[in-house]
Amino acid sequence: MKKPSEKEEEYFARLEFEKKKKIEEGKHKQLAELEKKRLQELHHMRCPKCGMELIEIDYKNIKVDKCSECDGIWLDAGELESVSKLEKSGLDKLFGVFKK
Ligand SMILES: [Zn+2]
Repeated sequence: MKKPSEKEEEYFARLEFEKKKKIEEGKHKQLAELEKKRLQELHHMRCPKCGMELIEIDYKNIKVDKCSECDGIWLDAGELESVSKLEKSGLDKLFGVFKK
């Protein structure tokens, strides 16, 4: 049997390395996805400022989230535009929902 040349050994070692590297990269991707999912679950409907629960109200199809702790008010994408289009009386009613 012929001994593999140095060049062949180098080639196969590199193939082995590439194969293992791909597996590790796959694991990293999976970890990143899991971490993203974990963070989403952890932060869903939580105040971005203090971390307490948000209370969601629906006013004229605008979903407004108000923090149960620090009273911050949060809007989803596009909702600031919707709020800005409300009449003054509509705005008063919207904020009246939260009045104590
Ligand atoms: Zn808060």
